Amino acid sequence: MNAGLLLRGDAPPGPGFRVDEGRCFPIRQGQEGPGPVVYWMSREQRVQDNWALLAAQDAALARQRGLVVVFTLTPSFPDASVRHYDFLLRGLAEVSQELAGLDIPFLVLCGHPPEELGAFLDRLGPALLVSDFDPAPAKRQWVVEVASQRREPMVEVDSRNVVPCRLASQKAEWGAYTLRPRYHKLLPHFLTPIPALLRHPFPASVQGAFPLPELKASLRAVYRDAPVSDLEPGARSAARQLQQFLTQGLPFYAQRSNDPNASVCSHLSAHLHFGQLSAQRIALAVQAAPAPQDAKDAYLEQLLVRRELADNFCWYNPRFASPAGFPDWARATLDLHRADVRPHLYQDSALENGETHDPLWNAAQHRLALRGHLEGYLRMYWAKKILEWTDCPEHAFELALRLNNRWLLDGRDSNGYVGVAWAIGGVHDRPWSERPIFGKVRYMNLEGCRRKFKVDDYIAHSPRPVAPLAD
Ligand SMILES: Cc1cc2nc3c(=O)[nH]c(=O)nc-3n(C[C@H](O)[C@H](O)[C@H](O)COP(=O)(O)OP(=O)(O)OC[C@H]3O[C@@H](n4cnc5c(N)ncnc54)[C@H](O)[C@@H]3O)c2cc1C
Repeated sequence: MNAGLLLRGDAPPGPGFRVDEGRCFPIRQGQEGPGPVVYWMSREQRVQDNWALLAAQDAALARQRGLVVVFTLTPSFPDASVRHYDFLLRGLAEVSQELAGLDIPFLVLCGHPPEELGAFLDRLGPALLVSDFDPAPAKRQWVVEVASQRREPMVEVDSRNVVPCRLASQKAEWGAYTLRPRYHKLLPHFLTPIPALLRHPFPASVQGAFPLPELKASLRAVYRDAPVSDLEPGARSAARQLQQFLTQGLPFYAQRSNDPNASVCSHLSAHLHFGQLSAQRIALAVQAAPAPQDAKDAYLEQLLVRRELADNFCWYNPRFASPAGFPDWARATLDLHRADVRPHLYQDSALENGETHDPLWNAAQHRLALRGHLEGYLRMYWAKKILEWTDCPEHAFELALRLNNRWLLDGRDSNGYVGVAWAIGGVHDRPWSERPIFGKVRYMNLEGCRRKFKVDDYIAHSPRPVAPLAD
């Protein structure tokens, strides 16, 4: 089946089809209903720069139909805390406002997504259902459930990755070095200007408002952690943050991104995780910025190759959230060192509370928990010490992932699964010289950190909890 034909319909009166067919993946063929085109927004929580929403609009224009956007909110998402829901809902409030200004109705349904969406679509009889791309197992399962119940055609559009994940590679890559050459060949084709979403000329009538307070009350977040106050959610805040980064951080990124005191990183990962900002928009802005080329190259390597490599891992490796997903060499070497003496062994609660003998590690844990963000270099150090200070790699992986996903605002992202698996299980890395506990997995220590940055300054400027963090 040709996704482009499916989306185009018979007689396109609109701006034509503005989305590259390579981004569109047909989930199911079907019988078009008499209703509007529906975009099931999930991972990409933004109005502009969203290829999935553009594809849905083009399909609606081609059919002279209305366009409806629907978000299904599950009240108990795995590992989600109040801080994640707060960031998400305040971002969605902005989405709702912006869509209203373009005459596009927006609804939030609360409950088990396939059930709620199915009942809603039954009432609407849509022409077509468009969803966005997401390797998260829960989302993949929902897509399968929705597709198996529906009659109308369904198409998935990859709006997260600049080079669509399925095209960048057809298999789990060994590392950035294997993805990079192919990725850069495809990049110029996909890194194009992004057209604007238009005011939609065909009305769609749907029932339902955006009852934010009622939705908030119905949430059953796993953790009651306070919302993060340092970072404002939403696309507008993300755009401001990007502008600030382009002038204040980007020019120094190549030299100083490993110095957590330097504040040259973009701090955009939470907005990216919730889809409030498009990586493609960032990449275009970075390309056009008056910064040194080595800074742009270094930043784009992280934003494009490393970030999209993470989706590649989670999409093609079904064991991405388990030590079984580590490469063979890493599993073998960690196994060989399983019985090594651990000079420091901590309970989970001591680690979560940041009560170890290492003040740098404690400062990193306190930042992660209290600010919901941690600088990239310290994330590596933080996770590697969890391997060193717990009884086995399996426990270390489970705990690091749990703390990562609970406290970080950008947690539960492909980047997080890969970051933790890189630090503890050598994913996308290579064997290094052998040493206790780590075997051939890359090691980091406090002295190495001292050589890179002023550790004492970092500790002095880190927040301290007033009450224990662990439940
Ligand atoms: C143990 C560990 C856990 C991590 N957990 C997460 C997580 O839960 N969520 C998350 O988004 N990232 C995670 N990362 C990746 C990375 O550390 C963060 O994306 C980055 O620090 C976010 O800060 P920033 O936006 O200022 O990054 P910048 O340095 O400004 O980078 C720009 C963007 O590039 C991407 N990026 C940067 N570094 C990486 C990387 N190593 N791998 C993949 N993409 C990258 C991110 O989208 C980031 O926002 C983790 C890394 C490690 C080692």
